[in-house]
Amino acid sequence: TPENLHAFLKSLNAAQLQAVLHDPASPLQILAGPGSGKTKVLTSRVAYLILHHLLPPSSICAVTFTNKAATEMRERLSKLIGKQRTSEVRMGTFHALCALFLRKFAKVVGIEANFTTHDLPILTPKEDIHRVVGSVYEQYEKSLRRSNSLDFDDLLLFGVKLFSDHPPATSWCRHVLVDEFQDTNVTQYELMRAIAAPTGGCVTIVGDPDQSIYGWRSAEVGNLAKMRKDFTGANQIFLEENYRSTGSILKTSLAIVSQDKSRIPKTLLTSHPSGTVPVLRSFPSEQAEANFIAVEIKRLVAFMGGVLRWGDFAILLRFSALSRAIESALQKEAIPSAVLGGHKFFERQEIKDILAYLQLIDNPNFTPALTRAINVPSRGIGDKSLSALVDRAQKTKIPVLEVIERIYDSNQVGVSDSLSNETASHSDLKPDIKPAVKHKVGPFVKTVRALRKLATEGASPPDLIQRLLQLIEYEDHLKRTQPEWESRWENVQELITFASDVEHDVNLSDLDPAADSSSSDTPLRLFLQASMLSSEGDNQSEEDSKEKVTITTCHAAKGLEWPVVIIPAVEQGTFPFYRTDDVQEERGRRLLYVACTRAQSLLYLSHVSKRKVGGETKTKDVSEFISAATKEHINIFTPRTSQFPPKERATIAQVLGRVDAPDAEVARRVAEFRKTTRYLTMDVDETNQPALALAGAGMKRASLSVVRCLQR
Ligand code: ATP
Ligand code: MG
Repeated sequence: TPENLHAFLKSLNAAQLQAVLHDPASPLQILAGPGSGKTKVLTSRVAYLILHHLLPPSSICAVTFTNKAATEMRERLSKLIGKQRTSEVRMGTFHALCALFLRKFAKVVGIEANFTTHDLPILTPKEDIHRVVGSVYEQYEKSLRRSNSLDFDDLLLFGVKLFSDHPPATSWCRHVLVDEFQDTNVTQYELMRAIAAPTGGCVTIVGDPDQSIYGWRSAEVGNLAKMRKDFTGANQIFLEENYRSTGSILKTSLAIVSQDKSRIPKTLLTSHPSGTVPVLRSFPSEQAEANFIAVEIKRLVAFMGGVLRWGDFAILLRFSALSRAIESALQKEAIPSAVLGGHKFFERQEIKDILAYLQLIDNPNFTPALTRAINVPSRGIGDKSLSALVDRAQKTKIPVLEVIERIYDSNQVGVSDSLSNETASHSDLKPDIKPAVKHKVGPFVKTVRALRKLATEGASPPDLIQRLLQLIEYEDHLKRTQPEWESRWENVQELITFASDVEHDVNLSDLDPAADSSSSDTPLRLFLQASMLSSEGDNQSEEDSKEKVTITTCHAAKGLEWPVVIIPAVEQGTFPFYRTDDVQEERGRRLLYVACTRAQSLLYLSHVSKRKVGGETKTKDVSEFISAATKEHINIFTPRTSQFPPKERATIAQVLGRVDAPDAEVARRVAEFRKTTRYLTMDVDETNQPALALAGAGMKRASLSVVRCLQR
């Protein structure tokens, strides 16, 4: 209705309004800093195109940076134009739109039923389109099957090819809008151009060069210039007011990004109060850091008396392997958490691969571990052979691993099949396992035997894992099969760190006379038990993620916002990342800037002096991005009192547009916090000396091992 339209236009400031009302037929660039309402403007412009210019929702193509961002944009848009119309808008990442379009187009030309057909005859131009779409689709499906995820780059390339070779295919689109344009790469840019070409320049892009975290800086600035050349008459609009963050968060963030002298300075102001000064904390180890994060989250929820909930917190990581220690600390404090854009540590494919082998050594009867490990790396042992092996194990009551070993041995000594002879009464068993399987299981059996030997000789779990990685050449396997192999390899290294931590804790509890460790448990079993305990997640569904602490990477956090943001590992070698050159250094700085500017009312940065990587302890320095200038805007002390002044609480409530809680509610929650917080916190006093403080009454009987753990 016109009233709706009027209401939402009224919620925009002058520059934002100008951008929304800008002539849809003339190309537009909106360039502005974080939190200035770029995404809000983009969403409002979509609504305005539909409500005022009466474009059909399905003729609008809006590109977001992540799936999560698309979901958020849909939520915002639903409020403006309703669910029905929102669902018709073509919205998503470049990849999602490509997939959507390929699907759509396949249907339009009626090839859906037979696109798996390999040889469509080339007869007419129409057939030619069938063939192109068919083969693209086929390859796309194939890559889906191969890696269970799209081959992203290919998909985009096919998209570009399709859009530019078959322009009529794009006639459904009448306006293209792109969010986070600064991170559009060359292929994505070409795709945008191909989709937008038939619209005659109906293009709106929003972006911020300071937040480019992927490509080369020159390329992004290049894309902005390129767009102005390709779409003549493109106008630029700048937004200068930040609505997201408190004044002091903005100051700290700007102090970080403005160290880059080549950057074009921008105005970014806020009318919010300056609020609580961002905190920088230093810890002796990653456990101490993780424990602090967990207890601090709990403390904030308690002391803000209902103004803050679990869902208001985000922990932003430079790389995903850092999540292991944090997940475990949150779990110990019974804080619900969800990993955004990925899996929890112990649910990650590479972790499950390694654990499967170790579980099998510990328990040869554990069929799920066997079916996982036997094809890591792929040994061409198919589902049929596997179920035949499992069947045989069940019928003969011999552990499936042993069945496999016997088959292998029978092959080695050249006897026909000792197992089948032994169980001759099961005459139906013989033909079920193909002879080729005997050869294929060879490397697997050898690996298992080598590991078992090591384990019985008392090798430690970290050594077992190291040896396993060599035996199955796991790093090469990841390189060959996984696009993000580096991140997966880091997770494997983190598993070794975890194993060595477990080993250490076990040794400590041996020293502790109060500790009860039954001596029958091997180190391997203790390790497996510890990893099992760590993987026991809360069984809530995805929809509940609003009530959970978010753990995600800085990259995946782009465009999003949370009341409280915590950034651990703000260290050299992390910000910027190890393999580094000048370009990467700049990118690292911008990444930290992106992470800091996600925060609305509270921002925490932390670093440790020693961090374990792959089981080895490394000395760490605070990130060079925390320069003298940055430090001026950061609080490196935390007050010893754990109470928040009511004024601070009121500010936080104000910035978030929430109601401050009554004191009685705060008192109730604080009491609850004291009761349920099980772990010691490290408090840093004014002299920056770590001091141990009891966080809750439950910790009166702090065991020796816990104290040592913290001292480490
Ligand atoms: P980023 O660069 O991080 O993606 P952005 O420029 O896209 O940031 P938005 O996410 O659109 O910024 O807006 C940031 C926050 O400010 C949102 O919560 C949004 O609702 C709010 N906001 C934007 N403009 C206004 C306004 N005119 N009045 C009130 N709130 C606003
Ligand atoms: Mg945005």
